[in-house]
Amino acid sequence: MGNSALIFELLHKDASSKARRGRMTTPHGVIETPVFMPVGTQATVKAMKPEEVKATGAQIILGNTYHLYLRPGSDIIREAGGLHNFMNWDKPILTDSGGYQVFSLGHMRKISEEGVKFSSYIDGSKHMLTPEKSIEVQMDLGSDIMMAFDECAPPDADYDYIKRSQALTTRWLERCIAAQKNTEKQALFGIMQGGFFRDLREISAESIVRFDLPGYAIGGISVGETKEEYIGVLEYAPDLLPENKPRYVMGIGTPDYIFEAVEHGVDMFDCVEPTRIARHGMAMTSFGRVSIKNAKFARDFRPLDPECDCYTCRHYSRAYLRHLFKEGETLSHMLLSEHNLRFLSKMCEGIRKSIEEDRFMDLKAEFYSKYYGGQN
Ligand SMILES: [Zn+2]
Repeated sequence: MGNSALIFELLHKDASSKARRGRMTTPHGVIETPVFMPVGTQATVKAMKPEEVKATGAQIILGNTYHLYLRPGSDIIREAGGLHNFMNWDKPILTDSGGYQVFSLGHMRKISEEGVKFSSYIDGSKHMLTPEKSIEVQMDLGSDIMMAFDECAPPDADYDYIKRSQALTTRWLERCIAAQKNTEKQALFGIMQGGFFRDLREISAESIVRFDLPGYAIGGISVGETKEEYIGVLEYAPDLLPENKPRYVMGIGTPDYIFEAVEHGVDMFDCVEPTRIARHGMAMTSFGRVSIKNAKFARDFRPLDPECDCYTCRHYSRAYLRHLFKEGETLSHMLLSEHNLRFLSKMCEGIRKSIEEDRFMDLKAEFYSKYYGGQN
């Protein structure tokens, strides 16, 4: 344990579900789990200063390897002293492998045993992302947690494709591990694949768990499947991973997807959702999702969410927020982003407390009736 960049402690297991209360210690601080991680794609959580992100209770943020590799270039970030220094964020950072964006944004991509060839979406320039390159870039960025380079198979891929893809992901993981030179500074997480096929999930889990990594992600869910299919994988996949390591589901940011993941034993999740919908005038509140542009808010001088303690709700009215949004004012993005991040952070605080008190399922029922069943 002494030379590992990340230590995970399992503090308590909920009596009514598989929910877990845990704690991760990283080179840049402690993270209480379950935890929602805001996304800072371009070395910034959009429309927010680091102090404001911290004020929402954020314990760790994400950086996107693909975007930072293309611009400004990871060599510049390395010269700046790493991503923490470059963006003035002194708490933990997790970086993805770049794989997801290569598969979703990369034009003319070509997958081979070696890696993925793609053209930049910015200027069409040709690049090759390999397991070694992904790790090299993530070492330049200096994140606390880095992710293994995996193939993100199309969500509708058939059994044979997923089987080959899962095996390739395991071979790429071995190369990522070999390329990493600083296990005491950065923790490398492996990613389970296998699509919606249980036997392939089992094979994938077995083949990555033998490397005894500091943590594991469950990849290939929340990729456009139905909610039933999503929950279907959660019902068995987390149990295939070691109990004493953190488990991460990428790209979930709506309350119901988070509650389901936590209920089935997931500890970490991230999404652009709260900040993206904020820029479209949408807010998550304790009484459900609202659109601030709604005419009914024109003379509504109450706070956005009377149960919220964020800067926005302490200082501004729904009428003012509606006005800002309708005028396209930058402050609208800032204030709604801060509120939405606080909302998810506070929701996770409640989740952690409920697990400690063995009442996670009660909290879930209360939350659902207010958020999904209540009236505005
Ligand atoms: Zn608020």
